[in-house]
Amino acid sequence: MPQVRSVSSVQQRLRRSNPMIATMRASLARTERADAAGLRRYQERRLRAMVRWAARRSPFYRRWFDEAGVDPRSIRTLEDLPRLPLIERRHLAETPEDFLAYPKRLVWAAHSSGTSGAPMTVYRTAGSSIFEMAALQRQWGWFGITPGSGSVELRGSTFAGNDPEVVALHNPGAHRLLISSFRLSPEFFPAIWREITAFGPATVEGWPSSLALLAALIRDAGRTLPVRGVITSSELMSPAQIALMRAVYVGPIIDHYGQTERVVMAGGCEAGGYHLFSDYGIMELLPVPGTGDEHEIVGTPLHNWGFPLLRYRTGDRVGTPATEPCPCGRAFPSFGLIGGRTEDLVRAADGRPVPLASTIIDDLTGLKEVQFVQHRPGVFEVRMVPGAGYDRAAVEALARENLLLMAGPGNDVTFTEMDALPRSGSGKLKMILVLDPGELPDQRESASS
Ligand SMILES: [Zn+2]
Repeated sequence: MPQVRSVSSVQQRLRRSNPMIATMRASLARTERADAAGLRRYQERRLRAMVRWAARRSPFYRRWFDEAGVDPRSIRTLEDLPRLPLIERRHLAETPEDFLAYPKRLVWAAHSSGTSGAPMTVYRTAGSSIFEMAALQRQWGWFGITPGSGSVELRGSTFAGNDPEVVALHNPGAHRLLISSFRLSPEFFPAIWREITAFGPATVEGWPSSLALLAALIRDAGRTLPVRGVITSSELMSPAQIALMRAVYVGPIIDHYGQTERVVMAGGCEAGGYHLFSDYGIMELLPVPGTGDEHEIVGTPLHNWGFPLLRYRTGDRVGTPATEPCPCGRAFPSFGLIGGRTEDLVRAADGRPVPLASTIIDDLTGLKEVQFVQHRPGVFEVRMVPGAGYDRAAVEALARENLLLMAGPGNDVTFTEMDALPRSGSGKLKMILVLDPGELPDQRESASS
């Protein structure tokens, strides 16, 4: 009999009871009503404070201001920002501690391989995490979703492990029901459905590929799951996935864009616009040579005082955004998000799709570059370029553990050390490379029928 495990996270309780959240919500409510000039004043005020703080406290910036002979007090406006150096992903792959402005005991690390395949580390503070949550909750509020609304979350959650008895994890303090993406199959659906209907969610949330899989299962059972919103991020959605989710979840799709580095956030509004949240971070756009209309997002976050990053190159691209005002009336600029985040669909040995397979290599450390290759369903290779602190045994053990959690048993993985990963003709490195997709029925395609 499948089970539900019940926990309540200490960290979440701390965050909820933290007095900072009320202050941040009030500030975010003010900037949401600001006009363009007000938003700019807010950005520049925070920028001045952040630059001075970084110049005093972060080893990297202390050294840079010293060597460049630039007075931090001379960086005052958005026009002054380009005088600062661009920060690259390699900085966070090689020397992340160099950017710390808080003692290590007050921060925690987060890792990602992102889309470029170079694992990197960033540090977060309690304050920056609360701000992140408050910024998302503000967006959800535009759709009538209040903090504390019940949410069904689909993740590549590791809680289920290989225990076939566990399909869901109930987190009552956080009003969340976590469903393991790993259990999204007809076999487990009756148990999952019982948990979801008993919980009565206001929202469903997670990777679009997982949300679409659940939607297909619900549709195949002849049911719908009306919610107030479908909260998505991280991946692009195909028109078929969107159509399926609209039909099954009935509510609006509430998408946001962000990165592990948390330098820029953008998201959809209730009027159908897609906005840069300019009180979260400053966005600069670097033209991408040879693309005509594409720009790389460079972000300067205005809220993480423990880990100041100024002018960070995300590697993500946007097109030229619309200039006409959004019917919602907010002064946040439009944001023209385009590609770069779709992944080829990885399949396990038994043909099951592995949602967001990048999580298998996302938390590997000590690598300059890493790539996950599917030679055929269930036969995988991790290609890696060793970097500082490389420990092959540790990398292999963690990758095998991640693979087992995400794709189940019976899959083969080999490890190859390389001096550099091969690039495609465009020079872009694909983090997930599917050489042979196999000839199995595609659940995502069947979802559109
Ligand atoms: Zn809008």
